[in-house]
Amino acid sequence: MSQPQVFSGNPLDRASSERRDRGWIAEQLEREESRFLPYWRLSVLVKTGIPRELGWARNDLCDNKAPGSEVVLLGLREGVAHFALDVSGLEKPEVALGLSGLARFEEVRAVATQLSAPECAIAAQGRALLDWHARHRFCAVCGAKTTAGLGGLMRECDECDAEHFPRTDPVVIMVVCSEDTCLLGRQAAWPPDMYSALAGFVDQDETIEEAVRREVFEETNVRVGRVRYYASQPWPFPSSLMIGCLAEAETREISVDPEELQSARWFSREEVAKALAEPGGGGLTVPPPMAIAHHLMRAWADGEGV
Ligand SMILES: [Zn+2]
Repeated sequence: MSQPQVFSGNPLDRASSERRDRGWIAEQLEREESRFLPYWRLSVLVKTGIPRELGWARNDLCDNKAPGSEVVLLGLREGVAHFALDVSGLEKPEVALGLSGLARFEEVRAVATQLSAPECAIAAQGRALLDWHARHRFCAVCGAKTTAGLGGLMRECDECDAEHFPRTDPVVIMVVCSEDTCLLGRQAAWPPDMYSALAGFVDQDETIEEAVRREVFEETNVRVGRVRYYASQPWPFPSSLMIGCLAEAETREISVDPEELQSARWFSREEVAKALAEPGGGGLTVPPPMAIAHHLMRAWADGEGV
């Protein structure tokens, strides 16, 4: 069984029917109970102090201290609307919002594992959605300005009425195994001795299995046969879905594409198990549990087959 992945487990009801009603959204924006999560240039507001908690605010923050900021509806929790608020226009946001010493803006990736799992997932949802809005101010069809609709779940062109929806980009990430070894690769920019699962974007008109086989062959020249889906992980940097797979190699000879990888090699089950058990213990270094690559390697090291 796969474990829950970091950034998964969002507790919000995304309110897909309610958000069609502009009047209802306007009401929620005014309600005192509604909660607003400020972001500044994609960093999320987190309270100082332990345990780390998101810096939810009330609606007076939007009206009085950050007027004109973009607001998107994330969803409902126990009937209470939760919004993300983009205050990127402020120069010194903690000072402007009167939050100095109480809360600060932090990168979602950096603070992820310090937050509770539900809050981490909400922080990721807000980051992905606000980033998408910031990148889609203009229509990809005609170039005119776009306006947010459905409480921030789409943008509509002011000129040609084209509707644009937030996208999620699928990425396959795979541990390729051959008998008692698995194929891992490294990029030149990574810390010394760090290896991870191979990965790449799913191409147009491609299945997950085809993407796994193509990426592995392109990067290492190794042919892959059977592919098994293992688990997935939202990765909102900016908008990926990591699709974790275990795959079976049909060939073993490696020839690395230097544009993609610095090196790739076969590692024994013992080497991988030791690296997972003793982070920084010397020899092989693998990604931390925040990354699905870690869990794929763990599954394989624990004997899961393809
Ligand atoms: Zn247009």
